[in-house]
Amino acid sequence: MDKIQMKTPLVEMDGDEMTRIIWKMIKDILLTPYIDLKTEYYDLGLKHRDETGDQVTVDAAEATKKYGVGVKCATITPNAARVKEYDLHQMWKSPNGTIRAILDGTVFRAPILVKGVTPFIPTWKKPITIARHAYGDLYKNVEMTVPAGAKAELVVTDKDGKETRETIHKFDGAGIIQGQHNLDTSISSFAHACFSYALTTKQDIWFSSKDTISKKYDHRFKDIFQEIFDAEYKDKFEKAGITYFYTLIDDAVARVIRSEGGYIWACKNYDGDVMSDMVATAFGSLAMMTSVLVSPTGVYEYEAAHGTVQRHYYKYLKGETTSTNSVATLFAWTGALKKRGKLDNLPRLSDFGCKLEKAAIQTIEEGVMTGDMYQLSTLKNKRKVDTETFLKEVAVRLNALL
Ligand code: NAD
Repeated sequence: MDKIQMKTPLVEMDGDEMTRIIWKMIKDILLTPYIDLKTEYYDLGLKHRDETGDQVTVDAAEATKKYGVGVKCATITPNAARVKEYDLHQMWKSPNGTIRAILDGTVFRAPILVKGVTPFIPTWKKPITIARHAYGDLYKNVEMTVPAGAKAELVVTDKDGKETRETIHKFDGAGIIQGQHNLDTSISSFAHACFSYALTTKQDIWFSSKDTISKKYDHRFKDIFQEIFDAEYKDKFEKAGITYFYTLIDDAVARVIRSEGGYIWACKNYDGDVMSDMVATAFGSLAMMTSVLVSPTGVYEYEAAHGTVQRHYYKYLKGETTSTNSVATLFAWTGALKKRGKLDNLPRLSDFGCKLEKAAIQTIEEGVMTGDMYQLSTLKNKRKVDTETFLKEVAVRLNALL
């Protein structure tokens, strides 16, 4: 069979530890034998980030902006222990945070469902995609401890120096305060990303916040979503047969638990952080969760939702057998290839992405799986295999499908 040709390169961002090992295995076993793989390679491994003063992360994000589609391996976000372990010049920021800021993106996370692993919520039949706003609120907060007897105020000084004040609290005893912000532009980008993603994936979308309590802050989110929807998406949604609605977060939680899935749930930054982990756990495993960062201008960056699986990497370094789940990383690749195929009008490439996903799911559903899935699966004929064997088993099924 002649290899599948590509037109535009994918921006390939390599990463760290066990996922870096998996990255290479996926390319060697499941991609390069079939595709004349065109990528622009950026090594986001911690060592190379350190050597370049983290410039490589910025370059990778800029390249993703230029070409439109990127695929990223999990990377270490350094803490004090990592600074020591890798002898780093400084505690570099999270690459995901840097890329997100440059692309001004929204993160969409969806579970990959397989037979044999039943969600903890028995009514859930289809994936629930969480769209998490990736800017501001708690993550860009300013906080202080407040001594007894102090008064805390909110002061806004406008560009002419005029002040508006509001008392937060008069503290009899000691306490704490916190200031948060968000931006109309960022909320608008979030709304656009959500509505476009809903249209692309033909799913309903819900947005929830706590506007009954937060009458200005959360209410602003609600208003911006509604204005943008009415002005630019209402007709398109009607044509596509999908809906948008806003509801209070308490109500959303109740609806989600009773639902059968198959929609997008847009959440503010903190809600999305917490709810995406809850949804992933309830569906089975973080290693079966896809993640894509979508910019308001339609740039896509695909990755796995999990980290670098450090514990397995140390086993691997000792020469011990590992059984690491590669499905989410594999789906990052297929997501990127399918997108590239669609944008460049290369049906063979998109079709390959679909078949590769099918082969991976089929492998698990036929009972061949890594240790994490082995623990969850209720299949009678299940068999635990090591990291590499799993990918080779996928290749066997892929060959049959092709
Ligand atoms: P992790 O996701 O690597 O592991 C968390 C737990 O889930 C571990 O028990 C691990 O064994 C299990 N697990 C995760 N993925 C698995 C897989 N594919 N197969 C089998 N088991 C799997 O998160 P962590 O241990 O908190 O972090 C390790 C490193 O990853 C840290 O340095 C952190 O900064 C980084 N991290 C990166 C990203 C990213 O780049 N997207 C996300 C989270 C964490």
